[in-house]
Amino acid sequence: MRRKFKHIAFIILLLSPLAAWAFVKPVRVLAPELAGVTCLSAHICVDDASRFVEATRLYDEGVSFVQSQVGTMQSPPRAIFCSTAECSRTFGLTQAMAYNVGTFGVVIGDRGWRSYLVRHELIHHLQNERLGSLNAVLLKPVWFREGMAYSLSEDPRRPLPPRLDGYRADFESWVQANGPPTALDRSGSPMKTPSRGAATANVGRI
Ligand SMILES: [Zn+2]
Repeated sequence: MRRKFKHIAFIILLLSPLAAWAFVKPVRVLAPELAGVTCLSAHICVDDASRFVEATRLYDEGVSFVQSQVGTMQSPPRAIFCSTAECSRTFGLTQAMAYNVGTFGVVIGDRGWRSYLVRHELIHHLQNERLGSLNAVLLKPVWFREGMAYSLSEDPRRPLPPRLDGYRADFESWVQANGPPTALDRSGSPMKTPSRGAATANVGRI
């Protein structure tokens, strides 16, 4: 029985990286070349090499915008730029146009090649660097994380869909009352942010 258990445990251990690869699409961000994109520089991977220059320009613009307007990144992430819907789907993008995975990487889908969307994902990367990925997701309210990304990326869409527009409005009124989030400045001081409880009490939108 014990032996059988060991065998099963061993098989699960063998299969789990494979399972993670197959079922958790963002995991592909960690090894994008296995998903058919080519990393042509330390930071940029593309599925279509002819768009590498365009991707690099968007990425560089995004990084320098976020560094100068929002806060200094310790280590700018790798970014995967998909040119086709098929590539986007491979990385798990269906509705969304882009996403980020902790501090590991950013994926820009075929409909996401816009400077404000690249900045948006880089702002999430910065939040994760400063707050810790888990802390950022679990302890900071979504209106704060998303509102900051929509607001500080200078997303020109006004209005956004109602829920997202609400996040941005809540963040902008929070900044009016509290000043800019301090941990995103260059001092690296502890972040002055609302806790989830405070957010619920103040905003009541979550
Ligand atoms: Zn976002």
